[in-house]
Amino acid sequence: MEVGTTANEDHHSPILIIGAGITGCLVAQGLKKAGIPFLLFDAEDPRVKRPRDWTLNLHWSIPILKELLPDSLQRRLAEAYCDPSYDASGHETVIFLNSATGKEMNTISAPGIRRVNRRKMRKLCSEGIDVQWEKTLVEMVYEKNGVAAHFSDGSTYRGVAVIGADGPNSKVRQILLGAEKAKTTPLEIVFLTTNVNYNDAEKAKHVRSGHPVVCPGFHPKGIFNFISVLDCPDPNDPKSWTFQIASSWLGNHDSKLNNDERLSLMKKQVEELAEPYRSANHWIPDEASVHHDAMTYWIPIPWDNHSGRVTLAGDAAHPLPPCKFSLHYLEYSLTNYGQRSRTGWESQHTGRFESCQGLDQDRIEECDKGPGSG
Ligand SMILES: Cc1cc2nc3c(=O)[nH]c(=O)nc-3n(C[C@H](O)[C@H](O)[C@H](O)COP(=O)(O)OP(=O)(O)OC[C@H]3O[C@@H](n4cnc5c(N)ncnc54)[C@H](O)[C@@H]3O)c2cc1C
Repeated sequence: MEVGTTANEDHHSPILIIGAGITGCLVAQGLKKAGIPFLLFDAEDPRVKRPRDWTLNLHWSIPILKELLPDSLQRRLAEAYCDPSYDASGHETVIFLNSATGKEMNTISAPGIRRVNRRKMRKLCSEGIDVQWEKTLVEMVYEKNGVAAHFSDGSTYRGVAVIGADGPNSKVRQILLGAEKAKTTPLEIVFLTTNVNYNDAEKAKHVRSGHPVVCPGFHPKGIFNFISVLDCPDPNDPKSWTFQIASSWLGNHDSKLNNDERLSLMKKQVEELAEPYRSANHWIPDEASVHHDAMTYWIPIPWDNHSGRVTLAGDAAHPLPPCKFSLHYLEYSLTNYGQRSRTGWESQHTGRFESCQGLDQDRIEECDKGPGSG
């Protein structure tokens, strides 16, 4: 068995971060900034298998995000935007349309809100960070001065603590709490989504006519329709634009449906939709890959952090249906956890363990307060 890192008593032992999604990469950036050693692992290698792409909003998490990123990457944050050229100069809005009539239902002022492309965001956040790819965590063993993390390829790495940033079905959470308590709760919601390049400038401009970036719509029959710009490689060439198109409704998804059947389901409602939703769905090409995203959530419960040796961040700590990116945990993981960890090291490992036990409890209580936690 390969032993990647040997446990030691001094403050050079790394923190082991499991999962190099946006959360894990940001945790790594924050630790790097604070001068705290770390190792970052991910089960997959995006250089081998291109990961799926989607879009997400950043709003209240932007200040934390900027705190974690080095100045050089903060200045380049726009590179991750779905349309880096779009700038509403602080007058950004979120518009909700009635997708049966095309009429506006409500417009919310959301100054500073930014829609980012997940792939570009992850790439930006991973810049300057070494990731050990194709390392799937299978087991953790708590040791006198830290944790041993065992991976499916037979390797073992040791560190002072593990941060589980391994997404909604977190293995770290399972090891911490047991499979039953860590299990997510499924919601009876169908959510179908696809990414499209219409390869036609006029079509692309039309699909974008509801809102320059993101256009959620609600149909009186209980259907959620969604259009978002996914990427604009050339803002002046609409033919280059790609979109994320999604539809969602109450019900149970039939996992036996093949891609053609999922696409038919998305297109079934086309006649009942107003523009631009009707055409956005009608023009989806036959070869488009349509995904069903399981809607699940997990409500955090107190966990034994083994004297500060393990914690959770991002979707691992608080998985939600795709609606908001909970960066709240990162603030604790880095500003508090990292700081206190350092304090702990300086005082020969004592302060760290005590303060971190209280810390996780604080986070759970904050989480119970609702939207402010995300
Ligand atoms: C279709 C869709 C739409 C969304 N829309 C929005 C939105 O509009 N707004 C919003 O805020 N959020 C949205 N989200 C949610 C948002 O994308 C997530 O909250 C965010 O990306 C979570 O990042 P993460 O790094 O915590 O987890 P993940 O991105 O899941 O990353 C976890 C990483 O851990 C790795 N991993 C898993 N298990 C192991 C293991 N055992 N060992 C090692 N590595 C492992 C995985 O390979 C992965 O790279 C959406 C999500 C989806 C799927």
